[in-house]
Amino acid sequence: MMDESLVNGLMERAKAGDQTVLRSAELKSLFEELKTKPTEERAAFGKAVNELKQELEEILLNHHPKTTTQKPIDITAPFDVNAKKPGLLPADQGSVHPLMKELEQVLQIYARMGFASAESRQLDDDWHMFESLNFPPDHPARDNTDTFEVEDGLLAPAHTSTMQNRIMSANKHLLDIGQPIAYVIPGRVFRNEDVDARHEHTFYQLEGIYVDKGINAGHLISVLQTFFEAYFGKKMEVRTQPFYFPFTEPSFEFAIACPFCDKAGCHVCGEGWLELLGCGMIHPNVLKMAGIDAEKYTGFAWGGGIERMVMVKNNIEDVRHFHSANLKFLRQFR
Ligand SMILES: [Zn+2]
Repeated sequence: MMDESLVNGLMERAKAGDQTVLRSAELKSLFEELKTKPTEERAAFGKAVNELKQELEEILLNHHPKTTTQKPIDITAPFDVNAKKPGLLPADQGSVHPLMKELEQVLQIYARMGFASAESRQLDDDWHMFESLNFPPDHPARDNTDTFEVEDGLLAPAHTSTMQNRIMSANKHLLDIGQPIAYVIPGRVFRNEDVDARHEHTFYQLEGIYVDKGINAGHLISVLQTFFEAYFGKKMEVRTQPFYFPFTEPSFEFAIACPFCDKAGCHVCGEGWLELLGCGMIHPNVLKMAGIDAEKYTGFAWGGGIERMVMVKNNIEDVRHFHSANLKFLRQFR
């Protein structure tokens, strides 16, 4: 007859739900053994082996994995309420995102130039997005489809300028004691864009504000030029062209001479210049809405995308890499 311990072993495995038992070497060995049996025993042995196989199949068919009721977890609770320790990857398996690494460097340069920093909000209201920035009531940019709106009417900001009023209102006391308001404001912004290699629906901007007595456009250009020379580590020619923003008057587009080809024209710049941001003198209405005496004080503001600078600096061809979470891309910046 069949080896009893072998049969018991197979039965145990089937009862435990082990599907591999039907293909196991032990079961195969019984069929092998059948071939070696003398003719008179073969029929009985074959029947027994077949019955065993059927029994195993039946057990497996009726086997249902034990279900246990898990304690419900509170997804809003700190991790130690639900589990002892979260399964975190060791720090050496990760790296700082190239955008954050670059932003850190940008903020350090501005800090050396005397600028404090504050982060912008990722949800804001219509007033900070438009009215506080002197957008005329019928301005096309008021159309909320330019960005995203949540159900209770808050907006995902389309620019970091939403922070201008807050920063100026909160720091206007500095002007009374003879100090300037000097802030840079990095933040995530959102646009209803058709996404392609140069356009993303979510990206980072850096806003800058400077307010004091006797400030003019010359100060604006000099601050930006100083920044870009520090950032690219070389002397730099800059250029402004008239532009329009409701919250600055006059408004400019600010360009630097391409640091790679010195205006000769290359695949990065096209025709020798890189337009990196918009800027201008803060509109008197914007100062007034922040409670600042626009007769006494003037200021400038600027804003530009972080991605574009990082792309230019690192020769990155597609803005979509940044939010792709593609490790092959990210690990190039470790
Ligand atoms: Zn160039």
